[in-house]
This record gives sequence, structure tokens and C-alpha cells, in this order.
Amino acid sequence: MVCTVVWLRYDLRLIDNPALFHAAKRGHVVIIYILDQETPGKWKLGKASLWWLHHSLKSLQNDLLKFNIPLILRRGADPLTILRQVLLQSRADTVYWNRCYEPYAVKRDQSIEEALKIDDVTVRSFQAGLLYEPWAIKSAKDEPFKLYIMYWNRCLSSDQPRKPYDKPRFNNTLDIKVQTDTLDSWHLVSPKKDWKDELKTVIGCPGEDGAIRKLKEFIKYKLVDYRKGKETVWPSKTSQLSTHLHFGEISPFVVWHTAKESVHLRSVPSDSSQRFLTEFGWRDFCFHLLYYYPDFPEKSYKLNFDETIWKVDKEKLKLWQQGKTGYPIVDAGMRELLNTGVISYRVRTIVASFLTKHLLIPWQNGAEWFWDTLVDADLALNSCSWQRITGCGADSSSYFYIINPVTQGERFDSDGNYVRKWIPEIAKLSNDYIQQPWEAPAAVLKKAGIALGKTYPKCIVNHKKARDVALTKFAPLKRQEPMDKLKKLPSKKKMKK
Ligand SMILES: Cc1cc2nc3c(=O)[nH]c(=O)nc-3n(C[C@H](O)[C@H](O)[C@H](O)COP(=O)(O)OP(=O)(O)OC[C@H]3O[C@@H](n4cnc5c(N)ncnc54)[C@H](O)[C@@H]3O)c2cc1C
Repeated sequence: MVCTVVWLRYDLRLIDNPALFHAAKRGHVVIIYILDQETPGKWKLGKASLWWLHHSLKSLQNDLLKFNIPLILRRGADPLTILRQVLLQSRADTVYWNRCYEPYAVKRDQSIEEALKIDDVTVRSFQAGLLYEPWAIKSAKDEPFKLYIMYWNRCLSSDQPRKPYDKPRFNNTLDIKVQTDTLDSWHLVSPKKDWKDELKTVIGCPGEDGAIRKLKEFIKYKLVDYRKGKETVWPSKTSQLSTHLHFGEISPFVVWHTAKESVHLRSVPSDSSQRFLTEFGWRDFCFHLLYYYPDFPEKSYKLNFDETIWKVDKEKLKLWQQGKTGYPIVDAGMRELLNTGVISYRVRTIVASFLTKHLLIPWQNGAEWFWDTLVDADLALNSCSWQRITGCGADSSSYFYIINPVTQGERFDSDGNYVRKWIPEIAKLSNDYIQQPWEAPAAVLKKAGIALGKTYPKCIVNHKKARDVALTKFAPLKRQEPMDKLKKLPSKKKMKK
């Protein structure tokens, strides 16, 4: 019987896991997860992600235990050496993995594949995390797309995403002992902060079972109203699949086909289902951009945005991070993020616009904070979304799109309950003032127990003035110098299919 090592990364699942499926068909499988916090450099997993990873690995360990298969855990900055040790201990001749697309991962996988080939080890990689491979969708000029709508239309006119693979049929019969760490010895969960209870109610349980439950719940109860859900400040109104998708606890192919079938099986209106599926176009598009522009997480796509306008006011950055800007909708969002690791799309856009347009702090600072605090922190989605909101990305809002935090609060949190939940110190204000406490007469503030500047901060900037300053500073940046005008595109990467 032959033995295959399967190296899991962002694919912590059994269903629709092509690397595992094909390895199990071959014979005995040894399944390994390597925690490498060195190779990603600045983009090593943040605190919230480490928390999720711990629980996700635990869940996968339990799932594999049902088949009497251990999940081998190893930690280290040199995955090649670890894989070589595991190959030796298991006497395996082959390594399978599902492809990753982060620039550091593409480089790492290429060099590992080359080194293992020299060792006479067979390496095969599979498509598992994206509906369309980033290099598979090209413009008529054989260039990457820069406009989402063109990209997605091209996707939709090509082959339908493939059907998901079944769970693998394991057939482990060899007596193989491979060295492993224990999960607890990695200390991924900080004893000082455990989001578990809050997160469980907000977002659900890490792991494949939790992901499938979330998908079923979403299809049954929320997909029908998805358009409305997307327009609220509450994360629970949309699918809440982002973290499960990021860690690969559920595959986009499973979500895609389940949502499509719901139109026939559950009579979900096709426009609700289409609107939801469009988000998977955005998801793939972010990876398409990251693949062709590996500098995306660090540099603005429109390079002149990085030149002069920004000023990192550390004090204001901290007030934004802590939810103390004096703008209730911004503060509620930032406090929710700090406490739960999750915020809705709508609130992400409001707080991101506030940081970059009102405070003129570079989007990179915001993206870094999100990276550390979001449980769904994802290099492609995070950097592309920050660039979009700032107006410096490939398919962005215009630089003069400056979100008004008061009117957005009134529109998307019209009953004020979101602000009341996260800023209890102003909860007694009526709806007239909950989004703008500074407009409340002194007697109203007093009755609500509020002393502005003491119990709740005064605004750190004036909206109108900040807007005017931003418009003046951003205006000269209309001239665009996109990355690909200045830099040659990377040649098409060779990735084994
Ligand atoms: C400033 C900013 C930063 C963001 N950072 C991240 C991040 O680090 N990780 C992350 O997963 N999402 C990020 N997003 C995108 C989006 O806000 C989240 O994916 C979404 O809120 C997650 O909730 P959901 O799973 O209920 O999404 P749903 O609305 O149910 O969408 C389903 C899935 O589609 C994808 N998706 C949804 N919206 C977008 C979008 N605008 N762009 C690309 N893909 C999308 C996600 O994988 C999501 O899980 C960011 C958005 C902004 C504005």
C-alpha cells in the first residue's frame, strides 16, 4: 500500500477537499498541519485568527479521530524540512496539497515543490479555495482584469464551478508513527482574552460542522432577505461564512451549488441568490488582483495615493482603534470589533472611510488593525476592500466618496439599537440624538447621564471640515498611476494542476 502526505493549510475540512480525496483513493494518508509564523512575515496570523485556528484544528482532530486518523501538528519556520521528516517517518512517496494564493505562499510552494522533486517525491496540487483560479480569467488582451464587472462577466460566461467532491473514503492500514506536537502546547488561545462565548453567539462555532450548520441556517432563514441583510449594521443578517471560508472549513463550491439549488428546492427568489453569489465573484476578484499585484497588501494600486497626503496621527489612530472618536456609529463598530472579532460589511465601510477620509490616516494602518482583530482577516479581501473604500484600488469608489457617519448611522441603524448595544454610556439618548450626541440640548444630555468629553468623547474631528480638507487633499490624485504602468506584471506562475 502506498502512502501520501496531505499538507493542510487553508482547507481545514473533509468535504470537497480534493487533496484529501485523491490521497485517500491512492491508499494510506498522513495528514499534517504546519504552523509557520515566519514565512508570512508581517502577515503572520493575528490574535483573533490564532484563536479561531485553535478551535478549528481541534474540531478537525475530532473529525479525523472518527476514522482513527491523527492530525499531525508541527510548528516551525521551515515547512520543507518538516515535510521531509514526515516523508521519512511515514515512508510516503507523494505530497498533495490544495493551492494557496497569498504571494508568500505561492513562492513557498513553488520552492518546496522544486526541492521535493529533486528528492524524487511526487507533488500534486489542487484547486479548492476559489471558484476560478486567478490566472484562468483573462481579458481579451490576455491581461488581468481591473474592473470587477468585466471580470465577473467573463467568469460567468466560462465553465460553471465544478461540483463538490464527497468526503474521502479513508483506507489507512499501515502502522505508521509520525512525530506530532500537541495543540495545547502551541498556546494559540490567549489566557487573557477568550472570545469564545461572545463569538459563539455572534458567529458560530469554528470547524467544518459549524460551517455547514451556518450555511444551512443561512439558506433556510436569511438568503431570501439577503439584499436587506447586507444593508444593516448587524453581522448576523448575512451568511457569516467569511471565517469558515477563510480557513477553508467549507468550500466555495459547496456554498455556490447549495445556494443555486435553493432557488429550486426552497423557492428562494433567484435575485436574492444571485446577489449572494455575486459576493463570491468579489471574493475571487480580490485574489485575482492579489495574484497579479503581489504588492497589494502594502501599496496602493494607484501608486500616487501613497505619496503625500497621509499623516499618521498616532493618538487619533488609537482613539479610532479603541472606539473613542466621538462618532457613535464609528465607535460602536470599533468596539464591536475589539470585543468580538467581527463586524458587518456596512460597518467596515463606515469605519474604514472615517479613518482614511476624516483622519487622513493611511489605509495600511487600518488594514493592519483589522488584520490583528478580525477573525476572518484575509490578506486578499482585507487589502482589496481597504483600497476600494479609500479610492486607491483597482475598482474603487471614487476618492470623493466620503461617508457621513451621522447620516449612515441614521440610515443603517435607524432604531439606534446597535449604538446602544456597544456604547451603553449614551444608551439613554433618544433616536433624535443617538447618532449625534453633540446636537442634544444640555438638559437632554444631563437627563441621559452624559457629560460630553467626560463620560463619552467629544468628536475628534468636525465632519464638514474634515470632508473639505480630504476633498482638497485628494483632488490632485485624480491623476492615476496604476501599479501596472510602473511595474512589469509577474510572468504567469507555473502552478501544478
Ligand atoms: C475595509 C474592509 C475590510 C474587509 N476585510 C475582510 C477580511 O479581512 N476578510 C473577509 O473575509 N472579508 C473582508 N471584507 C469583506 C466583507 O465585509 C466580509 O467578507 C463580510 O462582511 C463577511 O460577512 P459574511 O460572511 O456574512 O458575508 P456575506 O455577505 O454573507 O458574503 C458571503 C461571502 O462572500 C465574500 N464577500 C462578502 N463581501 C465581500 C466583499 N466586499 N469583497 C470580497 N468578498 C466578499 C466573503 O467570503 C463572505 O463570507 C472587508 C470589507 C471591508 C469594507
